[in-house]
Amino acid sequence: MIDPWSSAVVDYENLIEQFGIKPFADLLPEVDDPPVLMKRGIIFGQRDFGRIVKAMHEKSEFAVVSGMMPSGKMHIGHKMIVDQLVWYQKHGADIFIPIADMESFSARDIEFKESRELAIVEYLTNYIALGLDFKQKNIHCYLQSENKTVQSLAYLTGKRVNLNEMKAIYGFSGSTNISHLYVPLVQVADILHPQLEEFGGPKPTVVPVGPDQDPHIRLTRDIADRLKSKFNFIAPSSTYHRFITGLTGDKMSSSKPKTAIFLSDKPEVAEKKIKTAKTGGRESLDEQKKLGGIPEDCVVYEMLLYHLVESDKELVEMYHDCKNGTMMCGECKAKASTMIRIFFKDLSKRRNVAEGEARKILSNY
Ligand code: SF4
Repeated sequence: MIDPWSSAVVDYENLIEQFGIKPFADLLPEVDDPPVLMKRGIIFGQRDFGRIVKAMHEKSEFAVVSGMMPSGKMHIGHKMIVDQLVWYQKHGADIFIPIADMESFSARDIEFKESRELAIVEYLTNYIALGLDFKQKNIHCYLQSENKTVQSLAYLTGKRVNLNEMKAIYGFSGSTNISHLYVPLVQVADILHPQLEEFGGPKPTVVPVGPDQDPHIRLTRDIADRLKSKFNFIAPSSTYHRFITGLTGDKMSSSKPKTAIFLSDKPEVAEKKIKTAKTGGRESLDEQKKLGGIPEDCVVYEMLLYHLVESDKELVEMYHDCKNGTMMCGECKAKASTMIRIFFKDLSKRRNVAEGEARKILSNY
């Protein structure tokens, strides 16, 4: 069982086998202009992503749904979601961004007002600063608690699922509060509502998630089938990305500041943090020259791979220089910290102008 509110899932191969997630690599050759996250295997799995590839080839309508739960600061691992949204926007998707304030309330005790402010100051500001264009007409962003369409659909979906099923999927027990129990149905509605007639009717929809969110995807796909005769829903597709490792070697988490580089960090803070990150270096310089480093077990390399090095050629060279023992961790960290300083300098400038725009996004609610 995967618990989306607490799990630290890392056994990606087991997930593929046990839960029927398909390897993303099988579809990669069919994807035009794949982003770094797809090319480098960071997006490792998918369900029915072929439908999305087909829609992109045919230039027909498709949607992307990616929610945010405002519960803390955004860290650099969260950038992966925004990078994907930016890519989908470039490829013509209708984009839906639910702000999961109901989930924040039931799972994290965060009041709605606080959620809204967090969503603006932390999340939407970063989404804009990272390149998502909220001025386009095909983008929809809303608070769950204020979206009547989603809430009505959530109520309808509740008729197609029972308590035992929810317990089996999420491990809910007798002490689970009822709001928490209801929240997955709101997420089901978040994912399915772009297919309602008022949004253009049934269409392929993809949800890019970390593997810990797969229970929501499985539940939504089942409910989409059960509501097929009423709404003709197409079961949503999904993609699964790896988590970024935290600076200490554990999962990066906003609630554990020592593990994370936050998107609101000052450039010099981000730079300092990467210098403290766990590496795959050896005990001594001599040993590293002889045996080479272990980039597969290195947080700095992961930062380069996921976020800092755009050029595949440059990344491959760094990988080999590490493996061959011709590059030492000090030199490598110096390069990475320069890259991160430049990135954060630019991001912080963009964030300064983005907050005003972020505030306007929710002004209709
Ligand atoms: Fe990591 Fe770079 Fe050291 Fe290799 S040389 S282990 S990639 S920090």
